[in-house]
Amino acid sequence: MPLDAADLSALIGLCREEIELHCEHLGRLDSAIGDGDHGANMRRGLEAVYRERDAISVLPLPAALERIGLVLVMSIGGAAGPLYGTLLMELGRGLAARDLAARELAVRELDAREEETDFAAVLAVAVTAVARRGRSGPGDKTLLDVLYPVQAELASHAAPVRIAECARLAARGTEMMLARRGRASYLGERSIGHEDPGASSCALLTMTICHYFKE
Ligand code: ADP
Ligand code: MG
Ligand code: MG
Repeated sequence: MPLDAADLSALIGLCREEIELHCEHLGRLDSAIGDGDHGANMRRGLEAVYRERDAISVLPLPAALERIGLVLVMSIGGAAGPLYGTLLMELGRGLAARDLAARELAVRELDAREEETDFAAVLAVAVTAVARRGRSGPGDKTLLDVLYPVQAELASHAAPVRIAECARLAARGTEMMLARRGRASYLGERSIGHEDPGASSCALLTMTICHYFKE
């Protein structure tokens, strides 16, 4: 999936719209098991990226993703800022390293399937970096419970609609989990029965990106 400046700029706009649309919902989810600011935090983050979209979208993709990560760290705040920031910055660094290696080996252009395999591997490393940063893993009721299955679907070359559906179900699946990380973990058993706000925002963004690639 080669991304040009117009694609990236459009995607930034769509992600911002999606978060804006669900800002209150994310806030309500976070009020139930946290401090209620996740919608506002994410909106601040996407607004900041949106303001810089013209400068960001003309960068090569790896540099653009790193920049988005940095802007997210600086603007989202809370627990989610450094986690989303790590994800995007690591994706950018991973893609940069991959491009460099490809150039050194002077490999021929990758076909679409090879590109996807490559991207899935870079995503796997980035997701691991998020887990390290949050000292969390699968089943802890966080955005990682969406990231892991999405990465697995991508690695198995699932179609965008399938990845989007997987993200949606994965976020819903956090409802029955006991939170072991972040503010929600202070509630112990009482965190069960509520969808995790970070997992929800992560699914919304994943679905937005997948729907774009479906078209
Ligand atoms: P805060 O909890 O600081 O108010 P947000 O409300 O913006 O930050 O984000 C909360 C979300 O961040 C949670 O729903 C969860 O998905 C994610 N999160 C919090 N702590 C961790 C952690 N240690 N590891 C992974 N994800 C986490
Ligand atoms: Mg919060
Ligand atoms: Mg907070």
